[in-house]
Amino acid sequence: AKAQGRNCFAHFEPGMDAAARERRDMEIDMRAALTRGEFLLHYQPAIDIASGQTVGYEALVRWNHPTRGVLYPGAFIPLAEETGLILPLGDWILNRAVEDLASWPDHLRVAVNLSPSQLRSGHVLGTIMRALAHGNVAPHRLELEITESTTLHNNETSVAQLHKLRNMGVRIALDDFGTGHSSLNYLRSFPFHKMKIDRCFVEGLGQREDALPMVRAVIALAHSLNMATTAEGVERPEQLDILRAEGCTEAQGYLFAQPEQASGIADLAQPADAS
Ligand code: C2E
Ligand code: CA
Ligand code: CA
Ligand code: CA
Repeated sequence: AKAQGRNCFAHFEPGMDAAARERRDMEIDMRAALTRGEFLLHYQPAIDIASGQTVGYEALVRWNHPTRGVLYPGAFIPLAEETGLILPLGDWILNRAVEDLASWPDHLRVAVNLSPSQLRSGHVLGTIMRALAHGNVAPHRLELEITESTTLHNNETSVAQLHKLRNMGVRIALDDFGTGHSSLNYLRSFPFHKMKIDRCFVEGLGQREDALPMVRAVIALAHSLNMATTAEGVERPEQLDILRAEGCTEAQGYLFAQPEQASGIADLAQPADAS
């Protein structure tokens, strides 16, 4: 095993409570997982609503834990952010996603979730430029999903990197729109290509009277700012019908597919006539 970093406490500390010990063990595990290759990406398609065609895939990280089974990001991303492990993990995710993308048909994109701390660190731009060059991938095939966070629009490093990426042709999406605290301010601070409408708004479509006005307002706002829209968490045909009628651009959700490994997705095979 590799030497443990200085943040690891291999010895027992009687003063630690159970929760702190669990977090410490998890941090040690996560460091080892990176070197042992236990992380993997699942991909979920985004469908262009007008044509019904798949236009890209969102990369969603999983941890194939040796004893606990497959862990979902909610179980480890927050700790990765707290400990700084999100930086090496985030680099791994970007590199793997772009490497996978390089083998996919040209019309497909990949969307990668970025943590605010990755952007603040300042090296994500270099990671992305190297990954795109290495895979010989056109920058417009990469989409970065950024969540609303009060820190981004005040942070020069983050905003400067996003502008450089956008100028290179990388697409930038605002994830989980409507769930943060600074929505409108956020929209002024950066020219996003796309707004992702959070599942909590999409859920009630066709079932709750207050769902449609919210979704309609978000689509109108995005449209007025020249942004595309992706509805998340589409599970029922009636939701898709409403989104189509409202002019939403793309949809994602279990109605189309659950996230799964690239090897299990037929569309991602190399075209047979590739020369
Ligand atoms: P998100 O970006 O909003 O991702 C969508 C989540 O909704 C995913 O959960 C996906 O599996 C789930 N989902 C998709 N379609 C449906 C549906 O029709 N119904 C329902 N109920 N759920 C659906 P997942 O994979 O557990 O990811 C949770 C969150 O973890 C993501 O939310 C994202 O914020 C974060 N995350 C995932 N992968 C990464 C990553 O590579 N890096 C970073 N920084 N964060 C990630
Ligand atoms: Ca996302
Ligand atoms: Ca989202
Ligand atoms: Ca969401």
